[in-house]
Amino acid sequence: MGADIIDGKAFAAVVRGKVGEHVARLMADHGIKPGLAVVLVGEDPASQVYVRSKGKQTVEVGMNSYEHKLDIDTSEADLLALIERLNNDADVHGILVQLPLPGHLNEDLVINSIDPAKDVDGFHISNVGLLATGQKSMVPCTPLGCLMMLRDHHGSLSGLDAVVIGRSNIVGKPMAQLLLGDSCTVTIAHSRTKDLPDVVRRADIVVAAVGRPEMVPGDWIKPGATVIDVGINRLDAPERGEGKTRLVGDVDFATASAVAGAITPVPGGVGPMTIAVLLANTVTACCRAAGLPEPEGLTA
Ligand code: NAD
Repeated sequence: MGADIIDGKAFAAVVRGKVGEHVARLMADHGIKPGLAVVLVGEDPASQVYVRSKGKQTVEVGMNSYEHKLDIDTSEADLLALIERLNNDADVHGILVQLPLPGHLNEDLVINSIDPAKDVDGFHISNVGLLATGQKSMVPCTPLGCLMMLRDHHGSLSGLDAVVIGRSNIVGKPMAQLLLGDSCTVTIAHSRTKDLPDVVRRADIVVAAVGRPEMVPGDWIKPGATVIDVGINRLDAPERGEGKTRLVGDVDFATASAVAGAITPVPGGVGPMTIAVLLANTVTACCRAAGLPEPEGLTA
């Protein structure tokens, strides 16, 4: 029997719908319009696509979008000055600095200069510490999107064995913290893990966040397990025509979907959730700033 397909595209539309409703209520009841500022330094094509998409979706849910596009040779002092202005701007509830930054800029310094209350990416060390200690924080978008899909599929995650493959600050580590927060027994696997197939075979929940095309085959998956594939890998696809490419995840979908109980596809799984959760985080930040109740079901 094939796995249930967890439809991230549809789920993201539901999240955006909830965000839009909350934004409309904030406007109608309190005259507050949430605002998200996105800062892009340089002209990296992939980053430009993401930033455009973020701006478009921000406006579609009824929020203000402020885009700041800076030259690739912008100095650290100028970037920090812009962040300071945004930190002090009452119309800006969320600030996102698009990564990666050009090499001459210190990413840690820049991220940690954002007001933690406006850090909708959840990368500021204060938010990392708050999440790790089980306190209210801004939570990184991709892992929070994964958690929302897992909760929706399973209801309670309590007591389940979860294996997160990948230990990055952006996905792997916060994902593990969130699963721990929901009372899973969590293993973090990485490039030095011994017997990775055996580790993965124990898991009721597998989250793959590695960046290696189709590295997790079906025979690593425990029958009935839930598989969340975060990886986005672009492969050449000459069969589709000259110069064409296709996206695949870190999981070999064909073999894994024959064994798993549920699985996210690539594309159309985790990917669409990330921006939807960014919008959710912006509304959450806005409600917290105004001392109003947070939207239900959109936080960790
Ligand atoms: P990263 O390169 O920062 O981290 C990769 C991790 O994988 C590392 O911790 C490393 O230890 C581990 N790893 C590498 N080789 C391994 C191996 N052979 N076995 C086990 N573990 C191994 O990557 P990241 O930023 O965490 O992203 C991971 C993937 O997720 C990438 O494909 C990225 O494009 C994708 N991603 C998707 C979204 C989304 O919105 N869907 C968001 C962020 C990242």
